[in-house]
Amino acid sequence: MHLIHLTEANGQIRVEFSGCNMKCPYCVHIHQPSTVHSIEEVIDFVKNSSAGKMYLGGAEPTLQKDLIPLIEELHALGKHILLKSNGMKPEVLEAALPFVDGFVLEIKAPLDDISGTVELTGMSEERTVKYMDLLRKSLAIATSKWLRVWIRVIPEYVNTKTMPRILSEIKGADEVMLYQFLSNPEFDMPFKGHDLPVPAWEELEELAQIILEKVPRVMLVGDKGKVVLEK
Ligand code: SF4
Repeated sequence: MHLIHLTEANGQIRVEFSGCNMKCPYCVHIHQPSTVHSIEEVIDFVKNSSAGKMYLGGAEPTLQKDLIPLIEELHALGKHILLKSNGMKPEVLEAALPFVDGFVLEIKAPLDDISGTVELTGMSEERTVKYMDLLRKSLAIATSKWLRVWIRVIPEYVNTKTMPRILSEIKGADEVMLYQFLSNPEFDMPFKGHDLPVPAWEELEELAQIILEKVPRVMLVGDKGKVVLEK
């Protein structure tokens, strides 16, 4: 399997897989170098650690053909597993369902904003329309377990006007994470003329209050650090 990073910090092991089926113009991960590892190497790393939690992210984990065998082995070791995805491969999430503790799905804009999502993902309109259908299937699978919705707040697409349309699609989510665009230079490249963190922290807080009417927990991540708000 192709990995960008295999790291441990604060009781959690992060496996960051390389490669993605989208071409988001602000994405750092699809340009990062990767190295090839066997499942055994990853399992050895896990066995040599006392961390109980696993975060499988990346770029996009669901493209790795060995992902499900890896998840099965991690589950057998008793690890708490979160699997992140852009939602393009619901069949992989379905296969992972018995072995993971929860999912993290990224939502980029309201699901009815096709032209915005074309800009945000670098995909054709035809592929974007298919993606929305696949993402809805992935959301249905993920909410049957535990779901964090991961939202990179790029203000042209995610704002107080569009948030109600996003919320109407994520009923049953357990948590929303709002990430202030460009607040971590390791995550993003400039886009839409933005080259500093946006939106203002106060706008993230305003979005969080709207979300808390429908979702019990919101995590804000940005230039002011990390803040958790609960209903
Ligand atoms: S931002 Fe996420 S979905 Fe987009 S290319 Fe990067 S890893 Fe893929």
